[in-house]
Amino acid sequence: MIKPKISYINYGMGFTLSEHGKAIEIQLNKNLKKYPKLRKQVLAHEFLHWNSRGWFDDFKIDFYDLFNFKKGREQLSFCIKHPKSLLANSPVFFENGEFIPNWFMVGFWGLISITLITGGLLII
Ligand SMILES: [Zn+2]
Repeated sequence: MIKPKISYINYGMGFTLSEHGKAIEIQLNKNLKKYPKLRKQVLAHEFLHWNSRGWFDDFKIDFYDLFNFKKGREQLSFCIKHPKSLLANSPVFFENGEFIPNWFMVGFWGLISITLITGGLLII
């Protein structure tokens, strides 16, 4: 296995960048350096993506992570102190002059929208 290259950015939480379906780099929010415990958890999560075998694996990794409430609480307090990290929940990123879709969040927000719309229709 190749050792991941880790770089620091000033938004989001953590991302695993891939090229042609192969992970090439892990990006972490630079402010995580101040929170070693959370940084370790975010990195552990990105390592799972690093070793994932495709979008379904990635989806499962992110889905199960939604139920890691302890980490969720730490992430929330981090997000409040560093609002730019909330971009991790955005369905799209803007990087190097191009828009990169975040498919998990596209699905996540899509599901919420569908639930709200169909829920709204049921009330009507
Ligand atoms: Zn993830």
